Amino acid sequence: MEALLNYIDGELIAPASGEYLDNIEPATGEVYSKIPLSSEPDLEQAVAAAEAAFPAWSAMPQEQRSRLLIKLADAVEAASDQLAIAEARDNGKAVTFAKAVDSYRASANIRFFANACTQFSSESHGMGDVGVNYTLRDPVGIVGTISPWNFPLYLFTWKIAPALAAGNVVIAKPSEVTPMTAYLFSQICQQVGLPKGVLNILHGAGAQIGQAIVEHPRIKAISFTGGTATGKKLAATAAPMFKKLSLELGGKNPTLVFADCDFETTVKEVARAAFSNQGQICLCGSRIYVERSIYDRFKEAFVAEVERIKIGDPLDESTQHGALVSEAHMNKVLSYVQLALEEGGTLLTGGKRRILEGRCEQGYFVEPTVIEGLSLQCRTNQEEIFGPVCTLQPFDTDEEAVALANGTDYGLATSVWSSNVQRCHKLSKQLQFGIVWINSWLLRDLRTPFGGVKASGVGREGGEEALRFFTEPKNVCIKY
Ligand code: NAD
Repeated sequence: MEALLNYIDGELIAPASGEYLDNIEPATGEVYSKIPLSSEPDLEQAVAAAEAAFPAWSAMPQEQRSRLLIKLADAVEAASDQLAIAEARDNGKAVTFAKAVDSYRASANIRFFANACTQFSSESHGMGDVGVNYTLRDPVGIVGTISPWNFPLYLFTWKIAPALAAGNVVIAKPSEVTPMTAYLFSQICQQVGLPKGVLNILHGAGAQIGQAIVEHPRIKAISFTGGTATGKKLAATAAPMFKKLSLELGGKNPTLVFADCDFETTVKEVARAAFSNQGQICLCGSRIYVERSIYDRFKEAFVAEVERIKIGDPLDESTQHGALVSEAHMNKVLSYVQLALEEGGTLLTGGKRRILEGRCEQGYFVEPTVIEGLSLQCRTNQEEIFGPVCTLQPFDTDEEAVALANGTDYGLATSVWSSNVQRCHKLSKQLQFGIVWINSWLLRDLRTPFGGVKASGVGREGGEEALRFFTEPKNVCIKY
């Protein structure tokens, strides 16, 4: 059975502990590879390699660094089909989705920041006849990146690309639930000749190697994407050490559907927003609020649309809805369906594990599930389920829609479906979220600030926000 390896100082090496975790294919429930269980000695080796690589990498002319990263983006793009198949196998997501979204974005992230760093400039502040200030932006040094399982390579590269482009050296930890594409990526880094030690990839358990990365005194900044509870722990460790911290956390995103929306498009897009990637996207719209005058019509069309979603083997090109990422996660999602019923909800469709025939008969498949009849306050509507479960609820006025949307601890993303331009602008101002999509969902421009408010995170990534995070500003003040 294949044992994955860490990537330290340009070499693929086994963990110091000699221990491994099982890597399970969610569509079959079978162990298919071994994940290095990294610990402090691996981290010390990675920190030493990163420290040695930093002077040359940070001093490299920007254009040369950019060219190397473009070469890396090209190599990832050339391997995109292979990476998508690996992602589908490792995560359970449909391969067609992995090709269109995961693989595409992995190379796009690297290409984007390879170019963006050549356009990044800093400010100067004139003081009339007295003097002038200018801001220097230097790389932070060694930075740690920690990423989740829902978009394994996509979110892994979303962090390391800006960090490297800005001249930092990186110690990256992919999720132990989905390590495969980060491992394949380390082989690609070797092929393109990324200088040794510039990027180091350590696999293993979050509480062990993840925590050790956050605690390490010579790692100066942490960019984390994952759950809110983990983010809290990370902040408690990193804040007293005065580390730079970017936290991209969970969501419980509302979708607001008004009677004047483009009905057919909205039904399709709201279903896509709820169930893409089996509902395992931090941005998925899982609380759907519909203006009362169209509630019944919308409900009927929406349930019909959801029931058309094709569940199947993730490796089958016609599959739209694959397996959930793990047995534990499937059980968590199903326990929320049970909770929703106990809280008084009515199941409109789905709600069960789906048993497939053939190679996937032990897989972790859960039907797209729609529930109505629940209040805003119940746990089903307050807690992040992160699976194929959404709720429907009617509203009467714009004010009520905003109050429902803002009524959880989370504040990552929302979408508004209406043809009334004035309402869309007004609501955008009132909605307490990092991202507001109008008549769209998951339409992304990599230059825009990305992140959430409230329990959805601290800080922004994307575009110049990421390059600012991964650099340290220094003001130089000159008196004439
Ligand atoms: P998670 O918090 O369990 O794990 C995320 C990463 O943190 C993993 O690599 C894990 O190994 C590591 N980790 C765990 N404990 C750690 C510790 N004590 N110290 C350091 N690292 C530790 O999250 P998950 O289950 O992998 O991902 C799902 C969550 O991620 C959801 O809540 C989802 O909303 C969120 N998410 C947010 C965004 C965003 O951009 N805001 C994007 C994707 C996913």
